[in-house]
Amino acid sequence: MKSIETDVIVVAAGLSGLASAISAAENGASVVAFEKSNTTGGAANMGMGPLGIGSRIQKEHMISLTPGEAFRKHMYFTHYRVDARMVRDYYFKSGDTINWLMDMGVEFITVSRAFSAPEATRAYSDGEFTWHVVKPEGGGPPGPRSASAMIKKMTEKAVELGVEFKFETPVNKVIMENGKAVGVIAKDKDGNEIEARAKAIIIATGGFGDNPKMINELTGYEFGKTIYNFAIPGMKGDGLNMAWEAGAGKVTPVMELMYQLPDNMNHFILDGAFRQPCLWVNKIGQRFMPEDQIANTTFTGNAITTQPGMIAYSIFDSKLLRKYKKNGPDIISHVHPHDLYEHFDEAWERDITNGYEPIAQADTIEELAEKMGISVEGLVQQVEEYNEMCEAGFDEIFEKERQYMQPIEKGPFYCCRQHVGAYGSVGGILINHKTQVMTENYDVIEGLFAAGSDACNIFGDSYPFILSGNTMGFCLNSGRIAGENATANLVEEDEEDFS
Ligand SMILES: Cc1cc2nc3c(=O)[nH]c(=O)nc-3n(C[C@H](O)[C@H](O)[C@H](O)COP(=O)(O)OP(=O)(O)OC[C@H]3O[C@@H](n4cnc5c(N)ncnc54)[C@H](O)[C@@H]3O)c2cc1C
Repeated sequence: MKSIETDVIVVAAGLSGLASAISAAENGASVVAFEKSNTTGGAANMGMGPLGIGSRIQKEHMISLTPGEAFRKHMYFTHYRVDARMVRDYYFKSGDTINWLMDMGVEFITVSRAFSAPEATRAYSDGEFTWHVVKPEGGGPPGPRSASAMIKKMTEKAVELGVEFKFETPVNKVIMENGKAVGVIAKDKDGNEIEARAKAIIIATGGFGDNPKMINELTGYEFGKTIYNFAIPGMKGDGLNMAWEAGAGKVTPVMELMYQLPDNMNHFILDGAFRQPCLWVNKIGQRFMPEDQIANTTFTGNAITTQPGMIAYSIFDSKLLRKYKKNGPDIISHVHPHDLYEHFDEAWERDITNGYEPIAQADTIEELAEKMGISVEGLVQQVEEYNEMCEAGFDEIFEKERQYMQPIEKGPFYCCRQHVGAYGSVGGILINHKTQVMTENYDVIEGLFAAGSDACNIFGDSYPFILSGNTMGFCLNSGRIAGENATANLVEEDEEDFS
């Protein structure tokens, strides 16, 4: 077995692993990062950008939200069922972390809410301008994968600081001696085992989005049936399992919910086109939420979870489609292309021809209900009631914003089945606000730290959509905090040597 010795071992080179590695190396530590895949960045390569509060760019845009205000909002949102010290330290560091990234050469194109809607709707959504959207490499509008430009800069910085990456070399065990974490066992791509020893180990493997068994056992969802989450290859829950095996306390993880069409990345135009405050119903044909809220993907994912079969249907008629084509969407998603409806007909016809099963078109509401497996009687009744309320200009059931009370009356009618989705899992390893891993009795396991999605226990039951960019925000900041604390003793030792 090959042996390695270093100051700090980082288990994985995703977003939080990179942040940990860079901050540990900045403190003068030698760092080895073991990564299962052949590249850095993990799921963060798919995203658009992190949260920050009080960054230089926010100040330039006169965004006045303070970390203290964000802290209060977050704690209110989570009902104080999460670690306030951790949340506090994260938000107070987050502005500086954006500046830290900018100093590495990361460029942000804008600071945004997660979606745009007319002012009247914003009050319901309460979103803050915290999402620092990364400028995509090579220009163009931001969209999925913009954040890969940030990963590139972070990787360059880590290399410059001397971080040694070991790719295609997954870690499978933390070595414990006398209750202390002293190293890890990894396996390289040729199957050779490596025993690596260090003064500190930071676990950051990104959760278990690619492990249907763990998803089912820990969260109750069935992958491909009741949940269609992003399953980024390699996210098998390794970090959670090795930390728990080493004695870490367990925090029940959650899926970071949103909603989507099955295989949405290959049907992205339709995925975006149906995210409108049109008519949303469940399997029995009943509306289940004020549709002006559907841009809040967390709330909608939660609402779909509570419906029969955990499915929902969004419906518009040809009149509404014509309006979207002419004026653009009622609610602009920052994730989907802005010219969605210019490509709608082409995408729709292709998917109908190819038999993409979650969509249907029909000339009557009855036929639409039958094709989609919605209760015919329920949907007919609901559409009648809804259209009457549209005519009256007031939603008696949910008080949906008046401007979105647009009737469903002129065929053909278009429908899309919506499912619970998720970006991945969050939480699992019990940590304190210094990101030190703790036992179930809250005793610190010396030498062991965890960061990122593996240890993101601060969301409670739901992603705080009101403070968007929060998963990457937590990953970056918990990573930095882990890197700093993992090397705090090294800095002290160096100071002692010097005196
Ligand atoms: C489509 C999509 C869009 C998103 N957009 C955003 C956004 O705009 N803003 C936002 O805040 N969040 C966003 N997220 C969420 C965000 O990307 C993740 O929360 C974040 O990347 C998680 O960081 P992490 O460091 O915990 O894990 P990751 O960045 O996923 O990294 C985990 C790494 O661990 C490695 N690994 C796994 N097991 C092992 C092992 N045994 N040994 C060694 N390495 C291992 C993996 O290969 C991977 O590289 C998005 C997610 C998705 C899927």
